[in-house]
Amino acid sequence: MTEQQKEYFDIIRHETAAAKATLVAVSKTRPISAIQEFYELGQRDFGENRVPEMLEKAKSLPNDIRWHFIGHLQRNKVKDLIGHVDVLHSVDSERLLLEVNKQAVKAGRVVDVLLQFHIAQEESKYGLTSEVAKSFLPQYQQSEALPGVRIIGVMGMATFTDIDEQIATEFDRLVEIYEELKSTFFADKTEFCEISMGMSGDYPLALAKGSTMIRVGSLLFGKRNYG
Ligand SMILES: *Cc1c(COP(=O)(O)O)cnc(C)c1O
Repeated sequence: MTEQQKEYFDIIRHETAAAKATLVAVSKTRPISAIQEFYELGQRDFGENRVPEMLEKAKSLPNDIRWHFIGHLQRNKVKDLIGHVDVLHSVDSERLLLEVNKQAVKAGRVVDVLLQFHIAQEESKYGLTSEVAKSFLPQYQQSEALPGVRIIGVMGMATFTDIDEQIATEFDRLVEIYEELKSTFFADKTEFCEISMGMSGDYPLALAKGSTMIRVGSLLFGKRNYG
């Protein structure tokens, strides 16, 4: 780890702590040794976006790491992931939600999940619309409807752009979706309290807009070649 990386880490974790948010260090594509270095500096939350890669890392690294899965998840991969994931940020369909619940129940677990919303202009990004979420959530209102999952909030990715006003508008939209779901479906659920937004390029804005979980990769680990 370079001195500059250490310095960035210190700055980002202080900013995150000041905002009472969680810093998820996005370690996708990074070697185990790099994760270990951040672990030794006290970092415990790490984010991955591929199932085999996360399983491999989880196997080799300390047990008190909280693994956040942040990538698009296919339903046939849920089974492999379920015993190892602590927070699943990317529930982007009702079918995926049901599969996560099913596999978690089978494994005797309750998994924390976030509903991922499409807030960016790019078409390629996954995510629910608030209309779709509002159409299926009523079915699962009863406390025992989904015993394997705890829906703890929302996640979104802003458009990849330099235009701050656009990113700000998209973050505002995610907060609005969160507030609406909170009052409509989760008013009595204190665990529904997370808004996962903000990456290397936009995390200060995200924190200013009310993010409770930022997902930062390249600013901590250095530039990625892929992923
Ligand atoms: C890769 C990734 C990040 C981190 O991106 P950086 O720009 O490297 O900070 C955050 N969220 C998701 C969903 C990602 O896939």
